[in-house]
Amino acid sequence: MFNFLPMDIRVKFLGAAGSVTGSKFLLEIDDFKILIDCGLFQGLKELRLRNWDDLPVNPETIDTVVLTHAHIDHSGYLPMLYKNGYKGKIHCTEPTGALLEILLTDSAKLQEEEAAFANKKGYSKHDPAKPLYTVKDAERVFPNVETHLMDTEIILNDFVKIRFFHAGHIIGAASAEITVKTSQGDKLLVFSGDLGMDDNPLHLSPQKPKKADILFMESTYGNRIHHYQNIEDELIQLINDCDERGGCLIIPAFSLGRTQLILYYLWKIFQNMKSRPVYVDSPMAISVTSLYKRLEAYHRLQSKDDFGHHIFDASFVHYVTKQEQSRMLNTLKNHAIILSASGMATGGRILHHLYHRLPNEQDTVLFTGFQAIGSRGRALVEGEKQVRIFGEEVNVKARIATIDGLSAHADQEQLLEWVRDIKDSPKRTFLIHGEKEGMITLKQKLEEKNWNVTIPEYLESFTLFDHV
Ligand SMILES: [Zn+2]
Repeated sequence: MFNFLPMDIRVKFLGAAGSVTGSKFLLEIDDFKILIDCGLFQGLKELRLRNWDDLPVNPETIDTVVLTHAHIDHSGYLPMLYKNGYKGKIHCTEPTGALLEILLTDSAKLQEEEAAFANKKGYSKHDPAKPLYTVKDAERVFPNVETHLMDTEIILNDFVKIRFFHAGHIIGAASAEITVKTSQGDKLLVFSGDLGMDDNPLHLSPQKPKKADILFMESTYGNRIHHYQNIEDELIQLINDCDERGGCLIIPAFSLGRTQLILYYLWKIFQNMKSRPVYVDSPMAISVTSLYKRLEAYHRLQSKDDFGHHIFDASFVHYVTKQEQSRMLNTLKNHAIILSASGMATGGRILHHLYHRLPNEQDTVLFTGFQAIGSRGRALVEGEKQVRIFGEEVNVKARIATIDGLSAHADQEQLLEWVRDIKDSPKRTFLIHGEKEGMITLKQKLEEKNWNVTIPEYLESFTLFDHV
């Protein structure tokens, strides 16, 4: 008897396999192709060069794209996909759709600036450097975004439907459950996306799946357990210390999620201590903050009566939009906090703040997250006495401080907690979005539950169901 139901389900790992960037997973249900996430490779040059390679699948043949969240390592390749012939939709949540416009435009601007810089410096003399994509390319993406509510069925065709559910992590971040109708019943494929922590005061808790035939699970911190400091106490101490030194507190912070989380903590501690002006000096952080204000249903703050959604408009918060205003902040001597991007001091307005503040022993620079090898942030955290900014060696006399416990990623305990409700072992679990050590440790932990766990290689393919 001829069977019209899908027979074969396959997956190919086009990124975030053995690494944490470039998330792209090609799911083929017979000849129906879904791309889950469409991220840019970032970090090491060897990885970034992959962005220039042809995608191993012709973008024209992809039927649809499903996006778990807006971070560039999950969305930043979208302009390339359209540039190379993709014509379909992007399914995502409302905040993800809104964030794409901010993040992809910024990513394109950065690509254009880097190409212009390379040409100016002459290190592409024979072959003018080109951006990977332009702002114009990014703008081709936005009309194709189709947003959906969490926990709602999205029908892709007669046999395939998807559902997003909260993953925590950042505003709008989702896990994606894909249900495929086959002759042997429904098959459930679950992609975790990036998972957050349960107790984040800003972002919602990740929802736990109850069932998965095939599980794709992030493993960024598969071998780490976050040890929480009392963040409020730490900040109070730092601010008091700053007052004693007679300087300002400069906080390099990621624009998306981290800036808003710090604003929340500052709001909280200023209930019990004298507040001081906090300058949010990053155009992207300002856009993202207004998005957090607009999309209250997607984070926790609206549910807290005492402070509700007004914390981002507290009287101590000043949004610095113009460059001249940003430069004026250099004249502040003390009793002020400057929050600026980027979080690892690799670019953005934070650079001119560091250029002016690092040589000043009264000031304090507070790093609030993971600092990648090779970044200025890492050099400062490791105690370098000089760093290069704007082509000059800058002496480091300011106090350099760090604060842990603000991570947007689930740790090992939280990852294991996320799979706790899955009673029947999945047929297969793939560990993605992690470095080797984290994945190996998490694999061992899951194997203790008798799970069948695979760590896929970049570009590896697997048949998930055959002749079903
Ligand atoms: Zn992410």
